Amino acid sequence: MTTNTSPAEPGNRRILLVEDEQTIADVVRDYLMKAGFQVDMAGDGFTALKVAESRQPDLVILDRMLPGLDGVEVCRRLRQTMSVPVIMVTALGTEDDRILGLEMGADDYVTKPFSPRELVLRVKSVLRRSVKEFAPEPPVEAAGLWLDPASRTVAHDGAALALTVREFDLLAFLMRRPNQVFSREELIKAVWGWDFGDLSTVTVHVRRLREKIEANPTKPELLKTVWGVGYRFDALADAKESARGGE
Ligand code: CA
Repeated sequence: MTTNTSPAEPGNRRILLVEDEQTIADVVRDYLMKAGFQVDMAGDGFTALKVAESRQPDLVILDRMLPGLDGVEVCRRLRQTMSVPVIMVTALGTEDDRILGLEMGADDYVTKPFSPRELVLRVKSVLRRSVKEFAPEPPVEAAGLWLDPASRTVAHDGAALALTVREFDLLAFLMRRPNQVFSREELIKAVWGWDFGDLSTVTVHVRRLREKIEANPTKPELLKTVWGVGYRFDALADAKESARGGE
């Protein structure tokens, strides 16, 4: 444990809490503030977008059911301009609903009723991963992809890709372990830090990543499915390319 203040310390981190049910909003705000976060609030979708724009939060907790503009639409619009991590809060709890939130770019979700303590843990977990490390790992390059943990940027054949926090983490994890197969259970532990969780979270993130990195997402060359086992990052394309020799 260190006593140094760092960008990862809650006191430097601003959370936007979007929730129209005042009782829930108050309880969650209190928990977040007790944990040391600065909290901005919004009670509807349009206000959420305005506050996000003006306050530039480090993370957004976004209720799925909101008056005006619902959470899924807010998430979609946020994604057009910001890479801020989003935790979606859903009351419906159906798998389709959670997947829709993830498809729109949410990084995590919690289902109502939730424990505020667990939500704070989720917030910390997502933020830990979105904060630049002080001694970041070196960039990794494979199969035309270049990933730099220090700046949290990814480029494909020189063109920058816009990845969400978890998409980045998942790709980084797999690129660092080329050609190794990981089950969805292993990935949800390693990348999300969850001991349990909905494995479709992994499936959706893989699909989203493929849409961003694959020439043909329906016939992935980089992020391969190993049927009945899981996924692997295939660096063979790179091996062929880099077989050109030289130094
Ligand atoms: Ca609501």
